[in-house]
Amino acid sequence: ETNNTDWLKQLDWDKQQGLLPAVVQDFHSGKVLMLGYMNREALDITLSKGLVTFYSRSKQRLWTKGESSGNLLQLVSIGVDCDNDSLLLQANPIGPTCHKGTDSCWDNPACGEVHPFINRLQSLIASRKEEDPNESYTASLFQRGTKRIAQKVGEEGLETALAAATHDREELVNEASDLLYHLLVLLEDQQLSLDDIHANLAKRHTQAKAAQD
Ligand code: AMP
Ligand code: ZN
Ligand code: ZN
Ligand code: ZN
Repeated sequence: ETNNTDWLKQLDWDKQQGLLPAVVQDFHSGKVLMLGYMNREALDITLSKGLVTFYSRSKQRLWTKGESSGNLLQLVSIGVDCDNDSLLLQANPIGPTCHKGTDSCWDNPACGEVHPFINRLQSLIASRKEEDPNESYTASLFQRGTKRIAQKVGEEGLETALAAATHDREELVNEASDLLYHLLVLLEDQQLSLDDIHANLAKRHTQAKAAQD
């Protein structure tokens, strides 16, 4: 996989009866998708085929994730933890990873909110659409409409640029925060979300990579 295979030789297979826990995360979003266990053979197959393969403790055999559902996990990279006894894999998921149909095994309601701050801010902004404009600045922006929100994004963009140009770091952090917040309001007003932006950035990234190869 990489030209440095030292980490492979140092893995501590003896600690947990020949099995290492392997956490899989989405390469693009960083979202944690699932946990499985790998023995040496599962790791070998994962590396040679480029498809995440576990040792299933319930099936008691090698198990390539997605072998029956088609929801494969294409390997991007593997890292090992501080004491060589657990793995962290980055992968491109082909379809939902959880057999219950969600992207992540931790997408169920029992897991509570596991989304990054920016996603929670986005949800909060969306919820303000229903609120009293006299009680919430966000609600008042929605009430004033697209033109006002777009104007605020323009202003905050300019203020952000000026703060950077004048080397005012504290001001830059403040203005960039204003800009991000107003951009989220604008996206919500236009029925777009961070997911749309993320998907587009990821697509560009893929295209740029294809052009390099
Ligand atoms: P698949 O590997 O997607 O073809 O699924 C085959 C079987 O493996 C399913 O019927 C489940 O029993 C199990 N399985 C699939 N995905 C997961 C997962 N993310 N976590 C735990 N078990 C899974
Ligand atoms: Zn460890
Ligand atoms: Zn699951
Ligand atoms: Zn500002």
